[in-house]
Amino acid sequence: MAELLDGRLLAKDVEDRLQQVVAAGLERAGRPPGLAVLRVGDDPASGVYVANKEKASARVGIASHGAHLPAGSSAATVLAEIQRLNADPAVDGILLQLPLPAGLAEGPLLNAIDPGKDADGLHPCNLGRLLKGEPGPRSCTPAGVMALLARARVPLEGARAVVVGRSILVGQPMALMLQAANATVTVAHSRSRDLAALCREADVLVVAAGRPRLIGAEHVKPGAVVVDVGIHRLPPSAADGPSGRGGLCGDVRFEEVEPLVAAITPVPGGVGPMTVTMLLVNTVASWRAAFAPPVAGAGGEPAAADPLADLLP
Ligand code: NAD
Repeated sequence: MAELLDGRLLAKDVEDRLQQVVAAGLERAGRPPGLAVLRVGDDPASGVYVANKEKASARVGIASHGAHLPAGSSAATVLAEIQRLNADPAVDGILLQLPLPAGLAEGPLLNAIDPGKDADGLHPCNLGRLLKGEPGPRSCTPAGVMALLARARVPLEGARAVVVGRSILVGQPMALMLQAANATVTVAHSRSRDLAALCREADVLVVAAGRPRLIGAEHVKPGAVVVDVGIHRLPPSAADGPSGRGGLCGDVRFEEVEPLVAAITPVPGGVGPMTVTMLLVNTVASWRAAFAPPVAGAGGEPAAADPLADLLP
């Protein structure tokens, strides 16, 4: 039976460490870390995601400075709100919740976020830092995948890794992070030929195609490690009852792949919880950097171990 890469368990562990870091720095900082989730319009799924992020923030002691602008807001209004948050000294992390209402281009608005407060790690400056191997906030979903792999001690040095998907949100930064960990990385995408043969080369297969149940037994090498980033709501079935919302599935046919592999993430409960947690990590790291060097050993004392060391680039 495959090892389950349990994102909920790891998220809880990282939240405990964040709580400790926040409590230890509060007096010196004089204020808690602040995260602003900026929502525009009334996309119902976004409402749930924003609430989850704010709940997770509260659990570790991060103050929420969220703003909710009406659906008809102009680009200038959203930009002004981003600039206000950039200038607010109580805000360490800013996240523009996507999707935006039709008619608002996300690119210029995302680029307007101060790169030092880029909780999502998606600002071009921070993607550039990832490319160059420099410190900076990392994209949350792939950083969460790296944390799951590290926790399970999956060897990456020299391993063959295949990433299915080449989005800026997941696939591209994922490939860069695996490469930085000395894996040999192949990026597959919708125009790749013979996806199954490519995937079977992988010691570590990360799937972020956004295609429900795309990957099955024919795509995996026995003993591989499989990370399923995809998340999809299935249409309600009779088994869900009258008020049923349908279950969730990933890009991987779990029941087919699990018996073949060494380790696999479940959906839900794998990558998803770690994405939110890495948002908190980026916010706390930015807060800590604003008032103190990351870890200091004063007066010849040995430096205390940094509880976040394994999570930061
Ligand atoms: P996207 O649609 O932007 O990109 C999908 C990528 O997959 C594209 O590069 C495309 O070329 C590739 N692709 C599509 N069909 C393919 C096929 N048949 N064969 C090979 N490659 C194919 O999606 P995204 O934003 O990268 O997200 C991917 C999935 O991950 C979605 O299901 C999304 O909901 C999920 N997601 C989950 C989390 C999380 O926290 N769990 C976070 C972000 C995204």
